[in-house]
Amino acid sequence: MSDVSKFLDDNAVYRTLLESTKAIPWKIDWATMKFAYIGPQIEALLGWIPESWVSVEDWAMRMHPEDREYVVNFCVTQSQAGIDHEADYRALTKDNGYVWIRDVVHVVRNDRGEAEALVGFMFDITERKKTEQELLSLQKELEVLSFKDGLTNIANRRRFDSSFELEWERARSERHPLSMLLFDVDFFKQYNDLYGHAQGDQCLVDIAQTLNLALDGPRDLVARYGGEEFVVLLPEADAGVARKVAERCQRLLQKKSIVHALSPHGRRVTVSIGAGTVVPDGQVGPAGFIKAVDQQLYAAKNNGRHRIEHVQFKAKAP
Ligand code: GH3
Ligand code: MG
Ligand code: MG
Repeated sequence: MSDVSKFLDDNAVYRTLLESTKAIPWKIDWATMKFAYIGPQIEALLGWIPESWVSVEDWAMRMHPEDREYVVNFCVTQSQAGIDHEADYRALTKDNGYVWIRDVVHVVRNDRGEAEALVGFMFDITERKKTEQELLSLQKELEVLSFKDGLTNIANRRRFDSSFELEWERARSERHPLSMLLFDVDFFKQYNDLYGHAQGDQCLVDIAQTLNLALDGPRDLVARYGGEEFVVLLPEADAGVARKVAERCQRLLQKKSIVHALSPHGRRVTVSIGAGTVVPDGQVGPAGFIKAVDQQLYAAKNNGRHRIEHVQFKAKAP
């Protein structure tokens, strides 16, 4: 009989406590890597009787193949390092189903500090995982359906794409100019590295709000174009107006004065801007126009950042 069993026999109260909780207690001897004890509740949860849990092999083999390698490696590494840890995985049931388990593990040491045993509790977290996964897929679904960027609350790429298509057609049929500005935050990787990802996120929120302030046309739109890229769509704006809005964006951002200790531009967060103006008349298509604007952004980066480069497609003479 193992130490734990003896201990538990001597302590009926503890045994009752341990074996009547929903959490399933267990102990593995360090030297043999064999189970010294596993709570009888395991049978109700997974169908495998306690006696069938002989060694860590049984534990590993009764794990979902997709979880096994990662979880076993993680638990072995942590245990060898003497670190308490926990792992979530899917445990195989006797009737070939799976139950989500959270295993919480404590490394027991002897007086000399050497590992002697692992003890832990298994928790059934199937319900929690189900809710988590439902939430996650709901969130994804919402994102796909939504026209809003989850982080910054301004329009998202999908919204931009659809507005751009509409405005392009409108500009073409009414023979109006259409402008757009493409923004990319300068040295943003360094910003993240220096201040952390959470502050990086906050910086993007601040930039989005600042750009929003720079717009005044009723159909003007600011959207998050990608990670640290933004786009402004300016219907009926000619090159002069586009230039003014771009400069206003930079001025407002300067005023906002977000500290970036590694930026050579006044130790503040700056943006590079590719601008474009077009009267759609067949010289260039919508994709070609966006590509040309993107090339302006690229040029702004190459020419030193914190600057505006502009491309204009003039309408053919009537
Ligand atoms: P450059 O001046 O040439 O634009 O340099 P950069 O460092 O800004 O460019 P790079 O494309 O190398 O890095 C962009 C960084 O933006 C890397 C990425 O981790 C970060 N980023 C993208 N999206 C997000 C986001 O949603 N939140 C945060 N915090 N960072 C983001
Ligand atoms: Mg970028
Ligand atoms: Mg950048």
